[in-house]
Amino acid sequence: MPKRKKKDEKKDRKNLVAQAPRRVLVCPFCQTNTIPTYKSPEELQRFVSDRGRILPRLRTGICAKHQRKLAQAIKRARHLALLPFSVRPR
Ligand SMILES: [Zn+2]
Repeated sequence: MPKRKKKDEKKDRKNLVAQAPRRVLVCPFCQTNTIPTYKSPEELQRFVSDRGRILPRLRTGICAKHQRKLAQAIKRARHLALLPFSVRPR
C-alpha cells in the first residue's frame, strides 16, 4: 500500500464534505400557509431541541419570517408552561 501524504487525506475529507448529500429544506409554514402559534405547543415541539432550545434555521429550513414568528410563539408557550424553558440531561 503506498504511503499517503497528510495533504491527500485532507483533500479526501474536503471531498467528503462536498459530496455529502444536502437535502433542500423548505419552510413547512410557507408550504402549508400557516403561522406558528403558541396555541399548538405539540407542533412547536418539532422545532425545539431535546434540551428545550429553539433549533436554528439551518437545521429546520424555516424561512426568516417564520423563524421570527416561531421564536415568539415558543417564548409565549414557555411563559404559559406549555413548553419547557430547559430540559435537564439525565
Ligand atoms: Zn416560511
